[in-house]
Amino acid sequence: MMKKDLRSLPYEQLKNAVTEFGGQKYRADQIYRWMHVQGADDFDAMTNVPKDLLSKLSETYEIFRLKKETVQISQIDGTRKYLFALHDGNMIESVFMRYEHGNSVCVSSQAGCNMGCRFCASTIDGKARDLTAGEMLGQIYGIMEDTGEKISNVVVMGSGEPLENYVNLIAFIEMLTDEKGLHLSQRNLTVSTCGLVEKIRELSAHAYQLTLAISLHAATDEKRKALMPIANRYPLAELIGACRDYFEKTGRRITFEYALIKGENDTEEDAQALRDLIAGLNCHVNLIPVNPVPGRNYHQSEKNAVLAFKNKLEKNHINVTIRREMGRDIDGACGQLRRRFAAHFQETQL
Ligand code: SAH
Repeated sequence: MMKKDLRSLPYEQLKNAVTEFGGQKYRADQIYRWMHVQGADDFDAMTNVPKDLLSKLSETYEIFRLKKETVQISQIDGTRKYLFALHDGNMIESVFMRYEHGNSVCVSSQAGCNMGCRFCASTIDGKARDLTAGEMLGQIYGIMEDTGEKISNVVVMGSGEPLENYVNLIAFIEMLTDEKGLHLSQRNLTVSTCGLVEKIRELSAHAYQLTLAISLHAATDEKRKALMPIANRYPLAELIGACRDYFEKTGRRITFEYALIKGENDTEEDAQALRDLIAGLNCHVNLIPVNPVPGRNYHQSEKNAVLAFKNKLEKNHINVTIRREMGRDIDGACGQLRRRFAAHFQETQL
């Protein structure tokens, strides 16, 4: 039988598991603390918990471990890009960034991705599998251990579509913000999605205070379909409707991500279409010079085009920033490290 990931059980579920195996409730507190405060990923570390309880638990559960495979450190800004091996051999990436307001970790939610966005490297080989909540947390714990530093912000913007891994995402959010664990403020968490409308609506019902980021990248259905297959499933009108409701329910301003691609979506007409699309919505637009991905013919917009695009939005009182590119020298674009590792691995296997 495949064992389950103990680190993926939110506190209440862990308590049920522990009492089911005859343990007292406070043992669940101890075990939870070991995994989510002390960063233990091994039953043997839990020295204050009776051995027979641990051995019973270990018949059904294990802790899905992450092994640091490589870390690349940017000489420019200290950004660290990690490649972790999962217990079944799948590889995922996570990124550590230092900002003035604190340290930030970018977490992957799936090994690979099925969404097929044309400019994204993570999706080229499709999705291997969803990550468990514990594996999402494990990326943060692993980076904390490696750097010895505190993490104050988490963005679910690595490989994968978090809202396609919805149940695990919710457990991850609950545990990350649980006072019994890292106790991250919901306001310091961002979840980025290509726009699964039903799931955005489901998420809004939780009324979490997290930031929802929408990968928009185009302001008309026609242009968006050319970049993102998901646009065939959800027209922009529906997506923006869900965003408006999200704001109504949560009071949280939406972030729109817009990767500027030369000649594709970066003209003043494009900016105008974007303005019309999001008019009257409490939001923020994050402009990102697209990261060129090998094998895909997309180029970054010229500086002038970027500034003109930004000005156009600002003139219309839209809140806009140009995202600083972190770690340009260490495989910036999403999914590139994982792909390079896979290629290297295949080469060395030959
Ligand atoms: N699936 C989620 C989260 C992962 S992608 C989503 O779509 O939001 C994280 C962000 O990186 C998204 O905004 C995505 O569109 C963007 N991205 C992917 N490849 C990129 C590239 N080559 N250049 C710039 N941004 C990219």
